[in-house]
Amino acid sequence: VLRAEEVWKAFGEREVLRGISLTLARHEVVALIGASGSGKSTLLRCLGLLEPIDDGRMWLDDRDISDPRVDANRVRARLGAVFQSYNLFPHLSVLDNVTLASRVVHRMPKRDAEARALALLDRIGLAGFAKAHPDRLSGGQQQRAAIVRAIVTDPEVLLLDEITSALDPELVGEVLDLVRSLADGGATILMATHEMAFARDVADRVVVLDDGVIVEEGAPARVFADPRHPRTRAFLARFT
Ligand code: ATP
Ligand code: MG
Repeated sequence: VLRAEEVWKAFGEREVLRGISLTLARHEVVALIGASGSGKSTLLRCLGLLEPIDDGRMWLDDRDISDPRVDANRVRARLGAVFQSYNLFPHLSVLDNVTLASRVVHRMPKRDAEARALALLDRIGLAGFAKAHPDRLSGGQQQRAAIVRAIVTDPEVLLLDEITSALDPELVGEVLDLVRSLADGGATILMATHEMAFARDVADRVVVLDDGVIVEEGAPARVFADPRHPRTRAFLARFT
């Protein structure tokens, strides 16, 4: 579904992505791991067309989304992205937050958008908060609402960037459970995460980024049990 080929990205003098090639198959769940500053967020932002790339190509299905003539908003509308924090607009109710994209970008009638959003909020036990503002929700509830907002439009790919790292430990589980159920339901997910146990459980493949380069990738069981690249070993050693 989503493919990057030799993607390069620099901020000033600093080369942050140095020739990243990555393919995400439909229904595949890929965990991006790597040290802080290795380029995980930058890669997700580039793939989500939130950041321009310097070189390389990117495809969503057979469409070249790195072509500068592409309508970025239409591409973004086919992706769902959730970041570490500040995902919801504080001045809108939870329901308005969740339905905004489906109404504005996808031009879904308000009734349909709300019915769909309420069904999803109900599934995660948040229907009672639909009319509330986000500050009435716990961090974990806010992140789950942000995930609902990302999936309500049926995106082809979900890009998740450390969606639990700003949460208190006791709230992490409920967010990860939701991601797990999306993965089980066949979603296509690329997620940057520091939750190694979760990556091992849920991902079909783990991709290890080091200083803007993919140094290793493979099945989680293999990568975690038998890391081959010295940088992977050094990185994983911190978690044991
Ligand atoms: P973390 O695990 O801490 O989230 P990361 O792997 O997501 O790290 P990135 O956020 O992609 O890393 O950052 C990679 C490098 O790019 C860092 O050195 C960072 O300082 C730099 N960087 C990221 N965004 C910008 C920006 N907008 N302007 C300048 N430098 C940036
Ligand atoms: Mg990051």
